[in-house]
Amino acid sequence: MTDPFERAARIVAHDGPQPWDAVVPPVVQTSLFTFDSHEAMRATFHGEALRPVYSRTANPTVQAFEAKVAALEGAEAAVAFASGMGAISAAVLGHVRTGDRVVAVRSLYPDAYRLFETTLARFGVAVSYVDGTDLAEVGRALAGARLFYIESPTSWTIEALDVRALAAQARAAGVLSVIDNSWATPLFQQPLALGVDLVLHSASKYLGGHSDVVAGVIAGRAELIAPLRGEMLAYLGARLSPFDAWLLLRGLRTLPVRMRAQGASALEIARLLAAHPAVARVRHPGLGNSLPPGLLGTASLFTVEFREGVSLARLCDSLRVFRLGVSWGGHESLAVPGDILVSQPQEPNPARAFGISPRSLRLHVGLEGTATLWADLAAAIDAACG
Ligand SMILES: *Cc1c(COP(=O)(O)O)cnc(C)c1O
Repeated sequence: MTDPFERAARIVAHDGPQPWDAVVPPVVQTSLFTFDSHEAMRATFHGEALRPVYSRTANPTVQAFEAKVAALEGAEAAVAFASGMGAISAAVLGHVRTGDRVVAVRSLYPDAYRLFETTLARFGVAVSYVDGTDLAEVGRALAGARLFYIESPTSWTIEALDVRALAAQARAAGVLSVIDNSWATPLFQQPLALGVDLVLHSASKYLGGHSDVVAGVIAGRAELIAPLRGEMLAYLGARLSPFDAWLLLRGLRTLPVRMRAQGASALEIARLLAAHPAVARVRHPGLGNSLPPGLLGTASLFTVEFREGVSLARLCDSLRVFRLGVSWGGHESLAVPGDILVSQPQEPNPARAFGISPRSLRLHVGLEGTATLWADLAAAIDAACG
């Protein structure tokens, strides 16, 4: 097998032939595409010819992004959306009907949980949450279910699951499996090769990589992607804009180097935190003895839990390089304190439902440099213990 970084680097570096021999694909900023004859229009409308008609469902810049993600994930096809939530809602709503049951791993992305507990519930679809590390529990829950929603590693708790084993369980039960691969990216995890049916991303994170786009994408077999494009994209309408697709193509160029650099920096900082006397626990898959089979490396988002007596508020207010902010996957380092999420009054509250520790801090390690970032964290922890 070729080295996955070499393979990905080749995919993101070059494009096919472009107008005027440009080295970068153009932003095709148009809403519609015209036809030069009645017959050309008829053939397209009758499904005999394939070409863009209207940018809600097909646009060349968006298609270039979709093709690149499909290649990276080893998929036959991909369909892009206006956000990661657009991809998640399409993947789920496109496959369930009233009376169905969905099984999801616990501690999934907060707004996915809220979607399941509000919108899906309103349409009569029930969701049961399982411990993704307990294959027996997963097997029992999957009996009679329609869809298995996986995230690995999970949000906040950063639990790395055995995706191959989970996919095999779903297949044995005749349940469609979907995974959110935003954390690992196709560089560190190739879920389709591990047997998962559909892989999706918040492209707002590592795929974009520069904190300037909100986008999503789903990849998989052509027979599964076509109805999502035809129904979910066309009728729910959460389409990706050509300019955002162009920014994503630009961001993807450096995905392999960013993942390597940020992953290494984060692992070093996680090790330093794990050895710090103020720290109770670091949730980073790279700190265990081994990664689950199928996870080839570790990204730069992890969670640290502090001992009692460490003021998270003082810690946050003492940070000078890390900024306080949601999202992740960009060039900048970010922190989110768990106490704010746990005490959020709105329901449903995933942080409470999944038992997130109020003494936890989620960190995203960017590209500022390990020494700079560690000095910032160490000083802030000192200030928080004083
Ligand atoms: C951010 C995120 C999403 C949602 O993506 P948006 O682009 O913000 O809609 C989904 N899954 C995970 C794991 C995320 O971190």
